[in-house]
Amino acid sequence: MDLSRFPRRRYTSFATPIEFLPNFTRALAASCPDGAAPRIWIKRDDMLGLFPGGNKTRKLEFLVADALAQGADTLVTCGAPQSNHCRITLAAAVKEGLKCRFVIEERVPNSYDPNASGNNFMFRLLGVEAITVVPGGSNMAAEMQKVAEQVQGEGRKAYIIPGGGSNAIGGLGYVACAQELQQQLFDEGIAIDRVVVGSGSSGTHGGMVAGFLGNNIRIPITGIGVSRDPADQAPLVLKEAQAVLDLLGVKLQVKPEDVQCVGGFWQPKYSVPNARMVEAVQMLARTEGIPLDPVYTGKIMAGLIGMARQGAFRKDENVLFLHTGGLPSLHAYEKEVLGDGKGLPA
Ligand SMILES: *Cc1c(COP(=O)(O)O)cnc(C)c1O
Repeated sequence: MDLSRFPRRRYTSFATPIEFLPNFTRALAASCPDGAAPRIWIKRDDMLGLFPGGNKTRKLEFLVADALAQGADTLVTCGAPQSNHCRITLAAAVKEGLKCRFVIEERVPNSYDPNASGNNFMFRLLGVEAITVVPGGSNMAAEMQKVAEQVQGEGRKAYIIPGGGSNAIGGLGYVACAQELQQQLFDEGIAIDRVVVGSGSSGTHGGMVAGFLGNNIRIPITGIGVSRDPADQAPLVLKEAQAVLDLLGVKLQVKPEDVQCVGGFWQPKYSVPNARMVEAVQMLARTEGIPLDPVYTGKIMAGLIGMARQGAFRKDENVLFLHTGGLPSLHAYEKEVLGDGKGLPA
């Protein structure tokens, strides 16, 4: 798959490390029936560039390059109140000398507090130009179009980036990740049996599926939902993966069996803490010193832990967890994450 035809900005100057997690693997085995657990590895996409980086950094390398190629001077994007995607987009804008405006969707009513910590603090620190807050369920594309027209009215040029940066261009970032991973496994002599990723706006999961298919990487990918169960999530991922392959001119058809989604770990609602997330965040922090976040990676790791306890993996299977970032939002949920999980939904 040839990514070199697409304009790209580089925000990370190295391949994110792949690390074995011996202490976490031991703790997981001790909590599984018969002590039978997979061996857990991690790919540190939480170490990507920008402020601090996460999976959106990879998508933005292609999206921002496209914006610059089109002569845009302002990025317009959208997200939830504690959006990592908005914060990383803003950081990319700052680095490129662009302005940046957000539309924030209050999926939980009255949840946006401009003075909150975490990503909201960073919005202000990095100097967001304008934030429009709209109620949950709003037509985000239409709301961003309105903001783009305001920008146009000021004699400037806006570039709209969809939620999570998940379109065909953004998905190229995770094709690049698949290629990076393939090279690393070869160079470092690591044999991975399964990759576990988060599945939200679907650019990460869909981009990886496209990259694995196009590069003939025969490692199954499990996508753990952070906002939808498989019946709703899988079609989104399939559509994203197909759009990425089509953009690349790869003549392959994504089949339903190429897209494996797992649900049941994000409830009661996107971004709302649950007890399993708290356990996962504490477990990785206290065995390996690696922070997860409450909205995404905490629930995704809770999914991996839950699957291991349900016997979904073979003993000693090598499972690679993709750490997609999200550190700042940990600070917006300090009380919940330090608690014992009691009083939170399971
Ligand atoms: C956005 C995000 C995800 C989900 O990735 P998608 O490409 O939207 O599916 C996972 N983890 C973190 C930390 C994120 O910010």
